[in-house]
Amino acid sequence: MEQKPHIALLPSPGMGRLIPLVELAKLLLLHHDFHITCIIPVLGSPSKAMKAVVQALPTSIDHVFLPPVILEEEEIKGLKHGVQAMLTLTRSLPPLRDVLKSNRFSAFVVDPFGIDALAIAKELNISPYIFFPSNAFALSLVLHLPKLDETVSCEYRDLPEPVKLPGCIPIHGRDLLEPVQDRTSEFYKMFLTSTKRYRLAEGIIVNTFMELEGSAIKALLDEEAKNLPLFPVGPIQSGSSNQVDKLESDCLSWLDNQPHGSVLFVCFGSGGTLSYEQTNELALGLELSGQKFIWVVRAPNNESADATYLSDQTLGNNPLAFLPKEFVERTKGQGLVVPFWAPQAQVLSHGSTGGFLTHCGWNSTLESIMQGIPLIVWPLFAEQKMNAALLAEDLKVALRPKTNKNGLIDREEIAKVVKGLMVGEEGKKVHNHLSEPLKLLGCIPIHGRDLIEPAQDRTSEYYKEIFRIGKQLRLT
Ligand code: UDP
Repeated sequence: MEQKPHIALLPSPGMGRLIPLVELAKLLLLHHDFHITCIIPVLGSPSKAMKAVVQALPTSIDHVFLPPVILEEEEIKGLKHGVQAMLTLTRSLPPLRDVLKSNRFSAFVVDPFGIDALAIAKELNISPYIFFPSNAFALSLVLHLPKLDETVSCEYRDLPEPVKLPGCIPIHGRDLLEPVQDRTSEFYKMFLTSTKRYRLAEGIIVNTFMELEGSAIKALLDEEAKNLPLFPVGPIQSGSSNQVDKLESDCLSWLDNQPHGSVLFVCFGSGGTLSYEQTNELALGLELSGQKFIWVVRAPNNESADATYLSDQTLGNNPLAFLPKEFVERTKGQGLVVPFWAPQAQVLSHGSTGGFLTHCGWNSTLESIMQGIPLIVWPLFAEQKMNAALLAEDLKVALRPKTNKNGLIDREEIAKVVKGLMVGEEGKKVHNHLSEPLKLLGCIPIHGRDLIEPAQDRTSEYYKEIFRIGKQLRLT
């Protein structure tokens, strides 16, 4: 019997990287019935959330954890999570080579932080692909960076004019990807070198889609298609049917008892962290807004905005001790504070959720947009400022709070924007942008919520089965 093609997938460390790659694996299985193995590098030991994702994998998707990489305290002091992720992948290359060698893989899909692994795949005659977990806007910057590096002599943040990438909104240099913010840093040099290696791949799979970023995708296809095929396969997003534990299901029960569309979900991804002062302002701003909220809180950190990205956080006996005095008691009924982790995909697909204050990680962005939930953008690191510009200025599906002269978003501003989104006229406008009707060829425009029942939940088994039948009908 002919063997199925065997595909290897390599995420980089971090939930925001693991989740979409795992979802890609499920889609490859669903649509092509490939044999799939996820090869997972880890920094330290795998986090609780990471283990839960892997345990929930369908039995037909294999996984292997590479030996954990240990980076000494001294070694990682002050290193951005991106550099830590790159280092983890570099140190995982020898065991990765062994896994690739001992199986007959047809293709190998890597996350951009693992770009060095492409050369190993090539050497072993395995077709290498990149899975770019963000959008066409960020990919465009990555692919144009070698050119920008040659033509721009100053720091990009000091450029007087915005940078214009083909098919994208103009963007100020200070809002570009985090690794390009300091051209003298090691991070920039590593990043620039990695962008030149993208051309080793036989194609780039990118988590976006035409209806969202039509002109940026078209520009990339026009420029690159001959040399580097591009596959915009998005939106790939975390399934809202994932297992949830007790603490997480308490959060969903709380939502069950709230009015439709009344709750703002506040979450900064898997590792976004605020300073002590900013955490205090956010708490008081949410309270002042009078709006209902669920807030996933992290222990503050004054040094780094991604302090908890690659590890579980130890919150101790009183995980909420850093919140303003009696905040939790005062906001009982108005809000729910959840330490560290909430079942975000389920929260966003719950009818009581009506807004999302987000750090603009691309997974969070897609999860929100696909549920028609308007956003408040609060970018922290990585490509999040680019995503915030895309959401607020281009797609106009988000509001953006202003920073005061001390670099803080103060409580009054937070309360104003939260109220604006949840009950104000500006909130209605962004909501309308999210709910534009779909236009099928030769048919009247129709709103997504009025499509046939199976299309109402793309993560459900019902949807997947109808999709499979639809695809077969097209083939016959
Ligand atoms: N997430 C979650 N619960 C949380 C925080 C995050 O389920 O409390 C999930 C979220 O749904 C998303 C991913 O973790 O799928 C975060 O990815 P994103 O790209 O938004 O941000 P990152 O964590 O990479 O900064």
